[in-house]
Amino acid sequence: MNRPRIILDVDGVLADFVGHTLTLIGDLAPPGGREMFTSWDMVSVMSPDARARCAYGWRQPGWCATMPPLPEALSAVDRLGLRAEVVYATAPMVDAPHWMYERSKWLERVFAADPRSIVFAHDKAHVWGDVFVDDKPENIDGWALAHPSGIAALWDAPYNRDWKPKHGNATRVDRWASVFDLIPRS
Ligand SMILES: [Mg+2]
Repeated sequence: MNRPRIILDVDGVLADFVGHTLTLIGDLAPPGGREMFTSWDMVSVMSPDARARCAYGWRQPGWCATMPPLPEALSAVDRLGLRAEVVYATAPMVDAPHWMYERSKWLERVFAADPRSIVFAHDKAHVWGDVFVDDKPENIDGWALAHPSGIAALWDAPYNRDWKPKHGNATRVDRWASVFDLIPRS
């Protein structure tokens, strides 16, 4: 019998892109920390100096490789692996030439990912599965439309609070227990 297949986004779901960026910009961070990033375009609330530091720092070799995982993600993925086949779907930062290499190695090192389970895609609707978890509203809307028999779950974050489901097979989750509840029982 086939196991259920769950697709996990990486940045914002497994990897703390926002926290790593706050560390990068240091004293240039806007007051209020991560709650300040209420728009997908996080640099929109930054000073010009902070934007410049991001534009440079995000693309430096080693930045992607040293991103911390989000709390609970490690144990959640461990437990998900007992119930489902885990696939990692992550968009490359295309103007950082080493990004995909570092992201692959990071997933293998931090999450013990099988390299065959790592997919790079800007349009994640190309990736099939039973459950899809991502923090970007457009990805959830696109995947839910393309996979009507699957379930798309938006991982809650300050920058996606305006989102409302456009499709009946899309929902919002703010904890891993809710993700587990979405996995079909075989
Ligand atoms: Mg993401």
